[in-house]
Amino acid sequence: MASKKNVVVQINPEIREALLEMGAVDAYKCYQCGKCASVCPWFQVGTYEFLVFRFPLETVLGLIASSEEKEELAKEVDKIYRCVGCEACVEQCPLGVKIPDILRSARRILVDFGSYPETLKSVVQKIRNVGNPLGEPRENRGDWAKDLNVNAYSSDMELLYFPCCVPAYDARIQKVAKSTALILQKSGISFGILGDKESCCGEAIRRAGAENVFTETARSNIKVFEEAGVRQVLVSSPHCYVTFKNEYPDLGARFESLHTTQYLWQLIDAGRIRPDKEFKKKVVYHDPCTLGRQSGIYEEPRNILKSIPGLELLEVEEFSRNLSVCCGAGSGGLWIDWPVGERMADIRIKQLVDTGAEVIVVACPYCLQMFEETVKSMNLDIPVMDVTEILCEALGE
Ligand code: SF4
Ligand code: SF4
Repeated sequence: MASKKNVVVQINPEIREALLEMGAVDAYKCYQCGKCASVCPWFQVGTYEFLVFRFPLETVLGLIASSEEKEELAKEVDKIYRCVGCEACVEQCPLGVKIPDILRSARRILVDFGSYPETLKSVVQKIRNVGNPLGEPRENRGDWAKDLNVNAYSSDMELLYFPCCVPAYDARIQKVAKSTALILQKSGISFGILGDKESCCGEAIRRAGAENVFTETARSNIKVFEEAGVRQVLVSSPHCYVTFKNEYPDLGARFESLHTTQYLWQLIDAGRIRPDKEFKKKVVYHDPCTLGRQSGIYEEPRNILKSIPGLELLEVEEFSRNLSVCCGAGSGGLWIDWPVGERMADIRIKQLVDTGAEVIVVACPYCLQMFEETVKSMNLDIPVMDVTEILCEALGE
């Protein structure tokens, strides 16, 4: 039997100091009640042991990312990158301990040493080189709008529309950007896009630990937005929304961030657009973690859906709103290939399908991409749509 070292001789104050410096300050708040582990989606997956409550203590002891043996370190890296940043643990923790921030500090150390998953290294490189995680040419970023008569943004316009990299490039998800543009055009709002001038918001790579590339990318966007005179940015992705709203101001940004569900509900509420074409289907709405738990936007997407004639809105009774289960795409999870039987998207899709819905509705491009792929891999025949796509249809566009 392998002998175990006494934990006292393993304590590493240098690693503890580095983790604290990189943002793991919440570690000292934790009193080891274990509540976080029971709400973490990995607990529902059930086939992977993810003892979340250990991370704060391991941080205080300097025992995260500290293995010197290659195999042990690989296991640690896998564990550290399992967190998808859904913040279910943060919301339920009696002391609000930010476990994702603790893990992000460990990721920052791993990134500094180049010891992080190859798929994420590639994503970071692509963002640095061409401004998007898909590695698509920068000059094609505005191509989704080619046939739609969308103008380049100018400072006399009301809004800059920033579609997010996935709707800008992914052939299926471009429909979200197109639907948004068509709705804005129908409502008479003046808006424009920046196309190849803008880059990824950088949210995913920051959560993956690539702090320096995030800062570079964010500064480049802020400069472009400032030079263009942008005051309000409308975004399709909750990930862009929180990053522009909560993180860019620390780097000097001075513009307002609006998510499409907020803005489009305002337009409906004010009578500027009226969905009058029937969408006669039972639909279930999945609360994206970043829009719901992290931004408190629960009602607007539901209000949009409820305003559509013929649509019947269903809920996942026990796992809706702040208890929604993550799709698994956050914090770089979209690009990590989890082993079969260890995918939280499978669990979530089952919950959504079990409601009897005919359509799954989301308000996040990451959830949309993750669920599209999951539905295919599970051989299910149920469409996944964004709220804007349904609204666009209900407006007759
Ligand atoms: S719920 Fe909070 S206090 Fe309890 S173990 Fe988890 S992080 Fe620590
Ligand atoms: S953020 Fe989500 S995935 Fe990460 S530890 Fe907390 S509950 Fe688990």
